[in-house]
Amino acid sequence: MEASYSQSPPTPSSSETLMAALLAVPAAQLPSLARALGADARRLRCRLAFLLLSPPHFARALARLRSMPLPAKAKLLGRVLLRSLLLLLPGLCPEGYGGGSLHHLHLPHPDLDAALLLLAMCDSYSPAASSPSPVDWRAVIVDDVVASALSVSGLGATPWAALAPYVDAAAKCRRFADVVSEDRAAVGGIGKEGEGSRGASYAAVLALPPVAGDGAPCAICREEMAPGPRGVCALRPCGHRFHWHCALRWLARRNTCPCCRAELPSEDPVAETRRLWRAVERMARGG
Ligand SMILES: [Zn+2]
Ligand SMILES: [Zn+2]
Repeated sequence: MEASYSQSPPTPSSSETLMAALLAVPAAQLPSLARALGADARRLRCRLAFLLLSPPHFARALARLRSMPLPAKAKLLGRVLLRSLLLLLPGLCPEGYGGGSLHHLHLPHPDLDAALLLLAMCDSYSPAASSPSPVDWRAVIVDDVVASALSVSGLGATPWAALAPYVDAAAKCRRFADVVSEDRAAVGGIGKEGEGSRGASYAAVLALPPVAGDGAPCAICREEMAPGPRGVCALRPCGHRFHWHCALRWLARRNTCPCCRAELPSEDPVAETRRLWRAVERMARGG
């Protein structure tokens, strides 16, 4: 998987789509977006440097990574790439498509360490080199980090320079989600349509606004939603209303509105990546 990750560059169209969406960001917002991304990149670089300088921590992160089965590694990679897309989104849409999926931003430290190592290994891996076995990953990554630190020393002068690595990772994240969706379709018969069978994000469901019932029937159970302040919620983004208990049961299995199939944030990183990318594509088209 590491090989296929590093051998498959993002298709130009993904980066172009993101850049088209970013070009619509008002110029006044770019510096603050760039500052936020720059601060995040620095934090991640510092953490990777700490791991490289502390053999026990490096060994622990590597052991954790090695103990993960392949699907868990893929999920971790998906989450860390999705993070890049989420960090770009406040600039793309200030009202926040990322709201409700912000929990995907926060990786617990052991996961973050394993993810940083996995990404560094992907970046440093060169299939052409006849590497000794076992690979001394710490030495390989240190060489790579030093080389790239020397080559990027002039970066950061413009907002676009801070955005570039995140655009790159967000483009990879779409490609990654496409590949995983195809695999899922091949393995479990869960296709692109079947993504709806994955539940909505807990945070997004908890944030749904309670509304007063108006006596109309609930589209899930067909029973009347009694007038009054309790028991009914409105889905975001579409505003369709259901009994709370009907909506909770529905959203535990799907992240789409039963009336109009509007998408809510998903608990699944791959489904969430695809949802956010559809939003980015709409923004790139100016919609
Ligand atoms: Zn109902
Ligand atoms: Zn709806």
